[in-house]
Amino acid sequence: MKVPLLDLRAQHESLRDELLAAIHQVMDTQQFVLGPDVQALEDEICRYTRTRHAVGCASGSDAILLALMVLGVTAGDEVITSPFTFFATAAAVSRLRARPVFVDIDPLTYNIDPAAIEAAITPRTRAIMPVHLYGQCTEMIPLLEISERHHLPVIEDAAQAIGSEDRGRPAGSMGKIACFSFYPTKNLGGAGDGGLLTTDDSELAQRLRTLRVHGGDKEYHHREIGINSRLDTLQAAVLRVKLKYLNGWTTERQKKAQRYNQLFQEAKLEFELIPPFVREETRHIFHQYVVRISQHRDAIIKHLDQKGVGTKIYYPVPLHRQDCFEYLGYKEGEFPEAERAASETLALPCFPELTEEQQRYVVDAISSFRA
Ligand SMILES: *Cc1c(COP(=O)(O)O)cnc(C)c1O
Repeated sequence: MKVPLLDLRAQHESLRDELLAAIHQVMDTQQFVLGPDVQALEDEICRYTRTRHAVGCASGSDAILLALMVLGVTAGDEVITSPFTFFATAAAVSRLRARPVFVDIDPLTYNIDPAAIEAAITPRTRAIMPVHLYGQCTEMIPLLEISERHHLPVIEDAAQAIGSEDRGRPAGSMGKIACFSFYPTKNLGGAGDGGLLTTDDSELAQRLRTLRVHGGDKEYHHREIGINSRLDTLQAAVLRVKLKYLNGWTTERQKKAQRYNQLFQEAKLEFELIPPFVREETRHIFHQYVVRISQHRDAIIKHLDQKGVGTKIYYPVPLHRQDCFEYLGYKEGEFPEAERAASETLALPCFPELTEEQQRYVVDAISSFRA
C-alpha cells in the first residue's frame, strides 16, 4: 500500500464536472482578472470569516506583503512574528527593508508564545504577526491585550487556518488584517496561486484594493506605489465551487485526527510519539496532523518512506537559522522551542479522503519501527 502525504486527485474527481462548468463560464466571459467571481468570492469569504471586507490577491505571500504595506511598515521598522513558520511570513517583512523580530513558540501548539511577545517590543515595533500554524489559532486573547496596550496592529497569518476558530472567533476576524492563501495544498486550494486579505476597516480595505493594482484608484492615476497582485477570475471560480464543501472537509480532517489519536493510543509504541495538542475552545482544522517524536525521527521518516508512507517536516529550519536571515544576527539556541520543534515534529498524511485502512497502515508502519 502507498499512503501519500496529500492526494488532491480524489477531491478533484468528486468535483470534476462542477469545476469544469465554472471554468467554462469564466472562459465565456473572457474576464480573466478580478472578474465577477472574484467579487462574489470576496463576499462569500467575508461571510465565512465573519469580517466586513475581503480583498483577493495573487498569493498568500502577497497578502502578507500588502498587509504590511497598507499598515505603512517600512525600512527600519520591526515586526514581531514566529520563527517557526513558512518562509513567506518573515520574507515579506524583509522585502520592505523592515526587520522580522522573532519570539519563541509555545512547545504544545507550535504557535508564537504570547507571554514572550512583550519583551520583544521596542519603539520601532510596528506590528505583531501571529501565524495560526497547522490550522490551529494562536492564543489570541493575551496577544490582543498586548497589541491594545501597545497600540500595535495585529496581522494574522491565517494561510493555514481558514475555518479555524479561537473561542468562537474565526481566524481572520481577530487582527486588524488577516492573510489567507489558496495555494493548491491548503485546505481551500485553487488550481494555482491565490490569496486574500480580510479586515473590518473600510479605509484599509479600500487602500488594499488600490495597492493590489499598482496603487491606482483611477486607471493610469496613481496615488501610491502598489504592486500587481490580483486574483484571477478562474481561481475565484474554482474556489467558489470548493468553498461550499470546506466545512464538510474540515469535519473529515478532524475525524482523521481523532482516529490517529485513538490508533496511537492503542498502538503502545516503543518510543514516544506526542499527538497534536488541541487547545480548549479552539476549532483546529488540521491543515496538518503533526506529531512530535523526540527520538529517531529521521530514521522513522526513512522507515515510513520505505513502507510507502509520505511524511513531511514543516519546517526543518527555523527562520532565524536560515542563511538569508543571517544578517539579523540571531544565534543557534536563541529560540530553543522553535529549534526543538524543527528537529522533532513530523506531519503525517491527513486529508478528507484518507481511509481508515490507510490510517491503520500508517500507524502499523510507525509501530513496526525498531531503533
Ligand atoms: C502557504 C503559506 C504562506 C504563503 O502562501 P502562498 O499562497 O504560498 O504565497 C504564508 N504563510 C504560511 C504560514 C503559509 O502556510
